[in-house]
Amino acid sequence: MWAMIATWRMALEGVCEAGELLKKGKGAGEVVEQAIRMVEDFPYYKSVGYGGLPNEEMIVELDAGYMDGNTLSVGAVAGIKDFANPVSIAKELSKDNVNCVLVAEGAEKYASQKGFERKTMLTERAKKHYHKRVKKLQSQELKPYDGHDTVGEVVLDQAGKVVVATSTSGLFMKKAGRIGDSPIVGAGFYADSEVGGASATGLGEDLMKGCISYEIVRKMKEGLSPQEACQKAVNELDEKLKKSKGFSGDLSVIAIDKNGQFGCATNIQQFSFVVYRQNEEAVVYLADNVDGETKIYPASQEWMDQYMQERMAPITE
Ligand code: ASP
Repeated sequence: MWAMIATWRMALEGVCEAGELLKKGKGAGEVVEQAIRMVEDFPYYKSVGYGGLPNEEMIVELDAGYMDGNTLSVGAVAGIKDFANPVSIAKELSKDNVNCVLVAEGAEKYASQKGFERKTMLTERAKKHYHKRVKKLQSQELKPYDGHDTVGEVVLDQAGKVVVATSTSGLFMKKAGRIGDSPIVGAGFYADSEVGGASATGLGEDLMKGCISYEIVRKMKEGLSPQEACQKAVNELDEKLKKSKGFSGDLSVIAIDKNGQFGCATNIQQFSFVVYRQNEEAVVYLADNVDGETKIYPASQEWMDQYMQERMAPITE
């Protein structure tokens, strides 16, 4: 049985290609890397890789994480500039026993030495978004979260191996050096092939407070289904944050277990995710939080068309 799950509609094309590789018996590591690279390379997704939106100094700083569920090996990069595929660098780092999580210049030095492709990641389109936002900020309050999504993918291959990886440009207008949950093991991603894997997207500062990806895998290990584990982890963290500080940021999670069953939970409306499993078609689902329950339904063609139209639309002043 092979299966995969990924955050947001933007993962669809990569997931479809990855499914073909899984059919051929390719390993989860190679497959997840390929799938995420497709999102990183696509210039119209403004929250991952090339075309990702910059920080408040108009610099694109990227984060990525990778975990092999057979060995629990982890690699991650954070705040890395001008490399085309942070996910591949994170994967390479996971092969080492020490120095597996590198930030900023250290990560760039490592990537250079290993021969990873350098690329100017700030696009003209991203610059336009930036200038537009700067203008807006002169009249409105700073709300950096708008328009930000991380691609996180969990893959189960035919050999029963589970691998998870993430990639993001983080929050638009973040402070230089800010990192969220995405490159942090246990927060943005976690995998254990004996159980399954999970990944998160939303407000990194809050997701990491619940070590939410680890928590989901832990709950699955205790016998909860992926859906129960996701829902419980989101509700517990959401409630705790609201109770203790009066506010919870966006929390959306996905998971798959070692049998290919999947789960998703969110505290927002219209969180999209993609599932592709053996003997099934790839499906884009939407998830809505309805009073602490996640309602999941396939996205309509109209929704799919609008998603792409919005992303490709010219940027108006
Ligand atoms: N979790 C990411 C971060 O905080 C952003 C996102 O998933 O939308 O950097």
